[in-house]
Amino acid sequence: TPHLQIKDLSVAIEDKQILKGLNLEIKGGEVHAIMGPNGTGKSTLASAIMGHPKYEVTGGSITLNGEDVLEMEVDERARKGLFLAMQYPSEISGVTNADFLRSALNARQEEGKEISLIKFIRQMEKQMEILEMDQSFSHRYVNEGFSGGEKKRNEILQMMMLKPSIAILDEIDSGLDIDALKIVARGVNELRGSEMGVLMITHYQRLLNYIKPDFVHVMMQGRIVKSGGPELALKLEEKGYDWIKEELGIKD
Ligand code: ADP
Ligand code: MG
Ligand code: MG
Repeated sequence: TPHLQIKDLSVAIEDKQILKGLNLEIKGGEVHAIMGPNGTGKSTLASAIMGHPKYEVTGGSITLNGEDVLEMEVDERARKGLFLAMQYPSEISGVTNADFLRSALNARQEEGKEISLIKFIRQMEKQMEILEMDQSFSHRYVNEGFSGGEKKRNEILQMMMLKPSIAILDEIDSGLDIDALKIVARGVNELRGSEMGVLMITHYQRLLNYIKPDFVHVMMQGRIVKSGGPELALKLEEKGYDWIKEELGIKD
């Protein structure tokens, strides 16, 4: 089963140190939630794992099943099963959803073992049904003209098609009404318990009612400062973050 290990990770953006010695371990089948105030580096962590060039790793290590992720090119990370559902999904004009998904899938297959068109379409239609997406979405350009909620659903469609070993979901709940949130959660829960490990970044405990985490981590000032179970998220919802700052002697 997959095993992502992050040790003492430090990351800078334009010479500004954002992550300062972050430790996190995710195994297949586990769901981890990271919560924390805005600007603490949650999305930075996601981008660093995926290898976004703007984020410079200044220390520490990331391994997937013992292999050095930091040595891998961006597309290699995806091939190895790392997946990010982005906080702000981008539009890809001129490329239809179906074409995008099919090439992403085929990029992960060995030469000559590409998925047949019929099989692909059948799979895509099945997942779109689970996500209550209109079939017309497969012929539209990726995210172009999609509402915020449709973009999030589309990220989950990608996840369901690619079946990653580690899925990072960055604020997949932001901008969703309760019905859309339930549908997105259904998609994640569908794959859950398989070999996939999940890292969910969120501000709101509400999401965790629908995707129950095994572990909840609090991130502040570029590190994970506290970890616990689902009860930690409830406490954060009720009391905010100040008590943690006091407990740990963190000043803003
Ligand atoms: P979070 O996701 O926890 O809200 P981010 O990781 O997005 O936090 O941001 C952490 C810090 O890094 C913030 O101070 C933010 O302004 C800065 N930052 C993030 N992305 C960039 C970027 N592409 N260029 C410059 N600064 C950035
Ligand atoms: Mg933010
Ligand atoms: Mg963010």
